[in-house]
Amino acid sequence: MFNALIVNKNEEGKTSAAVEQITLDDLPAGDVTVAVEYSTVNYKDGLCIGPGGGLVRNYPHIPGIDFAGTVEASDDARYKAGDKVVLTGWRVGEAHWGGYSQKARVSGDWLVPLPSGLDTRQAMAVGTAGFTAMLAVMALEDHGIKDGPVLVTGAAGGVGSVATAILAHLGHEVAAVTGRPETAEYLSGLGATQIVAREELNETVKRPLEAEVWGGCVDAVGGEMLARVLGQMKYGASVSAVGLAGGAGLPATVIPFLLRGVNLLGIDSVMQPYENRLRAWERVAKDLPMDKLEAMVQPAVLSDLPALGRDILKGQVKGRVVVDVNA
Ligand code: NDP
Repeated sequence: MFNALIVNKNEEGKTSAAVEQITLDDLPAGDVTVAVEYSTVNYKDGLCIGPGGGLVRNYPHIPGIDFAGTVEASDDARYKAGDKVVLTGWRVGEAHWGGYSQKARVSGDWLVPLPSGLDTRQAMAVGTAGFTAMLAVMALEDHGIKDGPVLVTGAAGGVGSVATAILAHLGHEVAAVTGRPETAEYLSGLGATQIVAREELNETVKRPLEAEVWGGCVDAVGGEMLARVLGQMKYGASVSAVGLAGGAGLPATVIPFLLRGVNLLGIDSVMQPYENRLRAWERVAKDLPMDKLEAMVQPAVLSDLPALGRDILKGQVKGRVVVDVNA
């Protein structure tokens, strides 16, 4: 028997989440069984723990869209018992039981070996949010980061914190947008040189083009903020669109694309092929200073997750929550 956070839905459609004991026989089919060590709390986990945005198809469900741990049994020739592995994406924690469990059974195709230079806790301090931040920075690099500060929106959140630390480490001037002024010191500690108040960028677009300011942008917020930012990008600069914490709509015009050659780059961490995942994890190990990563971490245990799921949907979580599933 081992512990897992089980989410159930009753006949009235109300969900509940509690730590329960289950067995290996309860786990879904898969060719690799992993003794999970750490998982994390991402925005999608908030949706899967709570009433949900249609992400969970079948109940009972075990959320947790990422995990790191040690292979316990494997029918996949690429992995053997004792190997350290990391999982992000592939709809684990949404369509397939995830990492809020002391054991998980998954397809070997969804795993990558633990990147050298990171232990399982550090890998999950990065987690899906940090891995996505790295993909977003790599996409900006592929299209060329222009002179001028690089804007990071939703900066005190998971994606934003890691993007801020990576970009600063790479030598870019980072402007961090936050709705929480009390996080200014934290964001400066991660390397942000400018703190931008959320209200400054949250107004509906009045003019499709404003002064050219930003050499690039990692956007975790979407909505009106993204629309506004598009009109402030430097000529030919790119925005990596990662998330929708501020809304799924995009009340923008095509003018920034037509008259300033702005690139809007969609970032999807879920369906990344193996080679891309390896490349991004190697870059994380190289370009994310571990002291900065440590400054982002808030520790948690399985029983904390129902409350943390609610907090992240309200934008109240700072940095990265690392869940020790064996504590
Ligand atoms: P967090 O909740 O940790 O961070 C989001 C941040 O956005 C908050 O901390 C807050 O930052 C800001 N924010 C929240 N609500 C609003 C609002 N109404 N208006 C403006 N800003 C707001 O989430 P994550 O960093 O884990 O994820 C961020 C987004 O990225 C989510 O939408 C998530 O689903 C998406 N995502 C997408 C992935 C992909 O593959 N494309 C992978 C991972 C995440 P502050 O307080 O500093 O303003």
